[in-house]
Amino acid sequence: MRHTTTVVVGAGHSGLAMSRCLAARSVDHVVLERGQVASAWRTQRWDSLRLLTPNWMTRLPGFAYRGDDPDGYLGASQVARLLEDYAAESAAPVLTHTAVTSIRADAGGYVVDTDRGAWRTRSVVAATGATTVAAVPALPIPPGIVTVTPADYRNPDLLPSGGVLVVGASASGVQIADELRRSGRDVTLAVGEHVRMPRTYRGRDILWWMDASGLLDVRHDAMPDLVRARNLPSMQLVGAPRTLDLNALSETGVRLVGRFAGVHDGQAQFAGSLPNVCRLADLKLGRLLDTIDAWADRAGVDAEPSQRYAPTRLPAAATLSAPLGVGGIESIVWATGFRPDLSWLDVDVFDRRGRIVHDGGITSSPGLYVMGLPFLRRRKSTLIDGAAADAAELADHLVGHLDVAAARRLAS
Ligand SMILES: Cc1cc2nc3c(=O)[nH]c(=O)nc-3n(C[C@H](O)[C@H](O)[C@H](O)COP(=O)(O)OP(=O)(O)OC[C@H]3O[C@@H](n4cnc5c(N)ncnc54)[C@H](O)[C@@H]3O)c2cc1C
Repeated sequence: MRHTTTVVVGAGHSGLAMSRCLAARSVDHVVLERGQVASAWRTQRWDSLRLLTPNWMTRLPGFAYRGDDPDGYLGASQVARLLEDYAAESAAPVLTHTAVTSIRADAGGYVVDTDRGAWRTRSVVAATGATTVAAVPALPIPPGIVTVTPADYRNPDLLPSGGVLVVGASASGVQIADELRRSGRDVTLAVGEHVRMPRTYRGRDILWWMDASGLLDVRHDAMPDLVRARNLPSMQLVGAPRTLDLNALSETGVRLVGRFAGVHDGQAQFAGSLPNVCRLADLKLGRLLDTIDAWADRAGVDAEPSQRYAPTRLPAAATLSAPLGVGGIESIVWATGFRPDLSWLDVDVFDRRGRIVHDGGITSSPGLYVMGLPFLRRRKSTLIDGAAADAAELADHLVGHLDVAAARRLAS
């Protein structure tokens, strides 16, 4: 059995950011990765995907974007290359092709089993991602309908030529619906709660405003309803200089319907909630822009005049059902979100619904931490740009834990 002070599980940007922070604090550690560095960007992204965060936001501990297009948006393979370079530059101790199969608490530390041998360690950081498993609703889809999730969707050519139902209107759903429609498909988009967002506002990227005003830095312990904040859908943004909201989609011919609620007699059934969810999204966008305007006034930002956007246009008549099968909807894209997979963690830190319980990434099991989950410590925790601050704070906590544990061992 090998020994190390800290095992980091996962070599995506979260695990690499943590590794960099541990190295800066002289904590001996290893990063165990079941695939390659940045596996998710190599294996779980569609061909045309570009980051929805502008390049200047691609910041990690000790690293900032150095290319000549700070306002552009990296493609998935470019992100993978960048993370590969970051790992090399950091001399991160990554062991690739090493899957963690179980971690259990033992003698004041942890035993980590992998498919390539076991480790004993004093502390663990689970950085295996928030989007490992697609969350697909259990609906009785008739045989013959092709179903994919954004993790296995690649491009329109790989779906049957008939109509497509995209379920979910957050970042992945709107981007895939747009691509399918532009390829000439008949596209129906089932819309639930969503976060409407213009790409630019008052002449600047909306994420510039959210970053500069501190909205992305709002902390988990300042949120009145953290559970809700952690479950909010992703922003309707695309990595391109254009807005991709429901108005933009319906202009191209995407049919908007309410939530995909069930299947009856070979027909997909849609809820009548579309007007309500759209009104809510419009209202929240207005509130966000009010907050930005107020901050811009206080900060004296030199920007174009403020503006407001037309409400989401609803179809003249609500579509409450559509045929599934040849001539109708022949494939379904489940853009209904993801969940983490921590099934290998055999430590009692889960609630009744199987979600890991943590306070800003710190679990109740001493020395066990988690990274990269929604609103872990701040609003931007799942973004690449969110890892630096979270990793630094968790690494400080981890060092404190090691010191206390060492003092106890000395005293005993
Ligand atoms: C479609 C999509 C688009 C996104 N676009 C953006 C964007 O534009 N900007 C932005 O900032 N963020 C974006 N994100 C959010 C976030 O940056 C990514 O999800 C990112 O991949 C998360 O990084 P991570 O390191 O937390 O997890 P991951 O990248 O998922 O890395 C986790 C790693 O853990 C490994 N692993 C898992 N289980 C085990 C195990 N048992 N043993 C060993 N290794 C294991 C995996 O192989 C993987 O390499 C996007 C997310 C998605 C899904």
